[in-house]
Amino acid sequence: MRPFAHEDGAAAIVVGGLTPLSTTDWPGMLAATVFCQGCAWNCPYCHNAALRPFGAGERPWAEVLAWLETRQGLLEAVVFSGGEPLLQPGLNGAMRHVRGLGFEIGLHTSGMDPQALARVLPLCNWVGLDLKAPRAAYERITGVAAAGHAAWESLGMLRESGVVFELRTTWHPSLLSEAEILELAEEIAAAGPPSWAFQAFQPEGCANAELAAKECLPVPERLVVSLRRVFGRNGKLVVRN
Ligand code: SF4
Repeated sequence: MRPFAHEDGAAAIVVGGLTPLSTTDWPGMLAATVFCQGCAWNCPYCHNAALRPFGAGERPWAEVLAWLETRQGLLEAVVFSGGEPLLQPGLNGAMRHVRGLGFEIGLHTSGMDPQALARVLPLCNWVGLDLKAPRAAYERITGVAAAGHAAWESLGMLRESGVVFELRTTWHPSLLSEAEILELAEEIAAAGPPSWAFQAFQPEGCANAELAAKECLPVPERLVVSLRRVFGRNGKLVVRN
């Protein structure tokens, strides 16, 4: 018997895609990843461009839940990704349903809605928070004036919550200079997070042809050395090439 009502509209989310098995979306966990449709920011390097419009989605949430029931005992977790999951009014209810099936809950977010984050954090076992830029460059990267304030407020909330989390930053050298990345490292180190994953942009899924054409790998060694000098004092830096 289902521990929830599929027809509960308030607990539904708009699903733009599903990865049945991932070991990397929540590092170390066997997870299914649910991609929520819609995002309010406009990052030029977005690797999920098809998920940005607010639309009907790809498949009904009830269908995803029914499929998750068949994965009980096989998967450990469900990661809510996007798009931006925090913009789904039904996220809290959807997470409750998934917990009711016995799965742990992961969340990928840019932290664009701190109030929504506060509502779902008690249901989350792990969060991957994308930090896009140093505070001064946030509007330039996201196209939204209040974006930096929201993201850093979300980081503060995560630190207070005790929920395990990882900060992630994707770097495209045409959008942020090495000096700005070092500025971001200083800001993150000052906030004292446990872990920061820094990764170079990869073109898959990016709709911006000019950005996609530029080779960004690997991260220059001089930058890695400088980042370790800054960030190594306070936390764990992982450079993903
Ligand atoms: S916040 Fe994420 S989903 Fe939204 S535009 Fe930026 S990279 Fe894309």
